[in-house]
Amino acid sequence: MKRRDFIKGVGAGSILAGVGGTKLANAETKYKWKMVTTWPKNFPGLGTGANNLAKLITAMSGGRIQVKVYGAKELVPPFEVFDAVSRGTAEMGHGAAYYWKGKSEAAQFFAAVPYGLNAQEMNGWLYHGGGMKLWEDIYADFNLIPAAAGNTGVQMGGWFNKEIKSLKDLQGLKMRIPGLGGEVLKRAGGTPVSLPGGEIYTSLQSGAIDATEWVGPYNDLAFGLYKVAKFYYYPGWHEPGTTLEAIINKKAFAALPKDLQIIVKNACKVVNQDMLAEYTARNNAALHTLVNKHKVNLKAFPDTVLKKLSKLSDEVVAEVAKKDKASNKVYTSFRKFRDQARAWHDISEAAYMRARSL
Ligand code: CA
Repeated sequence: MKRRDFIKGVGAGSILAGVGGTKLANAETKYKWKMVTTWPKNFPGLGTGANNLAKLITAMSGGRIQVKVYGAKELVPPFEVFDAVSRGTAEMGHGAAYYWKGKSEAAQFFAAVPYGLNAQEMNGWLYHGGGMKLWEDIYADFNLIPAAAGNTGVQMGGWFNKEIKSLKDLQGLKMRIPGLGGEVLKRAGGTPVSLPGGEIYTSLQSGAIDATEWVGPYNDLAFGLYKVAKFYYYPGWHEPGTTLEAIINKKAFAALPKDLQIIVKNACKVVNQDMLAEYTARNNAALHTLVNKHKVNLKAFPDTVLKKLSKLSDEVVAEVAKKDKASNKVYTSFRKFRDQARAWHDISEAAYMRARSL
């Protein structure tokens, strides 16, 4: 049998034992992966972003990796995605890092920080400012490899059934708001609740919560939140450019040949950018529908409220940094990058936005 025929004859799904006992996957080995997500199946932007990631990995690998996507509750409940991928029930997951603060406080920095980095700055920090390495180190303890895989841009402040004129109006308010933003609300006298997206509408409708934030016009319109709340506030001080994540089981990733590893990571990068482009393209049309068709009362938080929330946010974020070594390390890097990004963006992006609005 010629060597060429031998390799051909090995066929799909097989593993060749290589030199020195290392296992080498041949070019025809097929990998079947499951991707569990925290989003309702096919939910616009978030769920479809996860679908795009799966399709892209399959297409870029020429079908060598097949990824099947599971919406929230199809395989595991939304908030069990992290554990499911960590233990290998699924090879991949798609969600947001602030859902896992119970696993690691520092994880929250990789989704959204109140008054923190916007989308452009998050990508700068992660890809060129040392953020990615810190994220990888933290998730390594959970047998996971993280990747940025989507960004919503600046979110909206949320849906309320009363006007927010001062910080007092937040007192006693039971609001769905995840991560560090929730901690800030608590500091302002409110009660933060963490709920997966699919449970927001009914919770607000039943009165289990008084207010909610979700994402922005494109996603909030899809959930019909305008039917159960009167006022739609901006800006999303608590989520200035939320990074969505892909998590990959370390063992499953290590089993891939190098070229497929590169494909998986770069497919995440493509989706990270593409999702932000989608939100940028769709948000304003959705806002138009909310305001003009559904008569939503659009309101800006008063400057006095925003200033106080900013102060509380700085306190909350600095306190997280004191909780453990990893959080302190991430906070130090994040803070340094934010100061530098702000100095540059004050005279570039922000100055331009101002010029355009004159
Ligand atoms: Ca949100």
